[in-house]
Amino acid sequence: MLDEILVKVQDISKRGARSLVVFDLDSTLFDVSPRLEKILLDFAANPFHQLQFPDQVALLKNIKTLRSDWGIKGALQRAGLDGHHADFQEAIRAYWEKNFFSNHYLQFDVPYEGAVEFVNNIAQAGAEIAYLTGRDVDRMGGSSAEIISQWGFPLNDKAQLVLKPHRSMEDAQFKTDWFLEARSDNYEKIFFFENEPVNLAHLAQNCPDIEMIFFESTHAGKAEPPVNIPRIMNFLLSRKAF
Ligand SMILES: [Mg+2]
Repeated sequence: MLDEILVKVQDISKRGARSLVVFDLDSTLFDVSPRLEKILLDFAANPFHQLQFPDQVALLKNIKTLRSDWGIKGALQRAGLDGHHADFQEAIRAYWEKNFFSNHYLQFDVPYEGAVEFVNNIAQAGAEIAYLTGRDVDRMGGSSAEIISQWGFPLNDKAQLVLKPHRSMEDAQFKTDWFLEARSDNYEKIFFFENEPVNLAHLAQNCPDIEMIFFESTHAGKAEPPVNIPRIMNFLLSRKAF
């Protein structure tokens, strides 16, 4: 699948035409479960929380997140924190929301296997790149570009970061609108890697010509994963690219 996309991009470039390859960030290029884990551990390390919620914090201290975690619910349940203590649940949810959707913990994200190499291979093959994310400018715009570069993902005049202008915008509509605009820019082919079924379904309705690839990691559970498009779990090529 990935090898085929790379070959297609190379062919398009050879003919002097343009291609665009678009990547979602959270849970597509980046595994965000280390970010989540660090936030929960920092909540537990806070002396104020230790005083306020001693029993819960004791259980939190050894918490481990999984690739499949979306939000905090699953990790808390596995730690034995199943939602009975309303004050604690409210406090940790607020703490998670404030920190997860911020610049302060993005450095704990880790790219999925092969992601950095694949995006670089795609760029070298001549495609333009966009990182199209539901992260918004205000809360997460400060560090996103820096961390993309730090990991070695291309970021330049042919590889751009597209953040949501305002947090109130709905991800699916924001992304579809961006594609509708990009589509008028005479690309021969546009590819989109995304983990969120809601975004893929919305885009499929509006831009069926875009080649979508479902990245199977975790998602909000608001829609079923698409059955009619290819799915991948990492970005490893089956052969060496160059
Ligand atoms: Mg995502």
